Amino acid sequence: MTFDSDFHLHTNASDGRCTVSELICAAKERGLKRVAVTDHSFSGLRRRSTPEKFEAQRAEIYAQEGITALQGIEANIISEDGEIDVPDEVMRRADVLIAGFHRFAALMRKSEARRFVFVNGFLSERERQKLYDVNTCAYLGLIECYPVDIIAHIGHRCPADFVRIAEACAARGVYIELNERHILDTRGLDERMGDIISTGVKFIVGSDAHRADRVGIFDNVAAFIKRHDIPLDRVYGIDGNVPAFKDRSEWKR
Ligand SMILES: [Zn+2]
Ligand SMILES: [Zn+2]
Repeated sequence: MTFDSDFHLHTNASDGRCTVSELICAAKERGLKRVAVTDHSFSGLRRRSTPEKFEAQRAEIYAQEGITALQGIEANIISEDGEIDVPDEVMRRADVLIAGFHRFAALMRKSEARRFVFVNGFLSERERQKLYDVNTCAYLGLIECYPVDIIAHIGHRCPADFVRIAEACAARGVYIELNERHILDTRGLDERMGDIISTGVKFIVGSDAHRADRVGIFDNVAAFIKRHDIPLDRVYGIDGNVPAFKDRSEWKR
C-alpha cells in the first residue's frame, strides 16, 4: 500500500511547531498528493487556534503549488450531546471537519461539559468506562447534528460503542480516522475491528503530525491495516483513493 495523502496536520497556529509552508514542503518531499491542515478549534485550554489565525492561514494553504492543500479544522467534542466548539462561519469555510475527544477541551459553559471532558480525560480507565453509554450518545449526537467528515482517533481516552458509531458513520458518509499518533494508544478498538469493518464504514489516514518530520509517516497505521486486514479500497489517502468531503457552505445550526 502507498500512502499518498495526509488529512490531519497541526501548524503553529495551534500546538504544532511549523508553519503551513514547512509542513506542506515536507509533504511534497514525501511524495504526497493531498493534505489537509487541521489545527485545533478554539476552546481548548492548551495552545489553540483562533478565528483570526484560521482566516490568516487560509491564503498560505491555498497558495501551495504541486499538491492539493485543504484547510480543515479539528473540533473538540465538548458535551454529552456531541456538541462541538467550531463557530458556524468557520464550519462553513472549512474544507474538512474533523471531530474528536480531547481532554484539554474545557469550555466550561455547562456542567455536563465539565463532567464529560474531565471524567473521560483525567480519571481512571474504570471511571471512564462507566461513561461508555454517555460517550456513545455523544458521538452519535455529533454524527447526527453536524456535517462532520472525520471522527478522529476513536478509542483514545473516550470509551464508547465503536461498532454503533461505525454504523452511524457508514450511514452518514463519515470517515473513521486511522491516526498514526494515537492508534497504539486505544482501548477496546482492536477487539471490535472485525465488527467495525463489517458495517461497511470507510477509513481515512491522518498522521496528526505536529512537526514536519512526522508528515506522511504511517508505520503504525500500515501495521494496523495489515493486522486487521482492512479492505484497501475502503481506506482513503492510500493507493489513489480520494475522499469526498461535505459541502458545508450553506450549513446552519
Ligand atoms: Zn486530536
Ligand atoms: Zn490533531
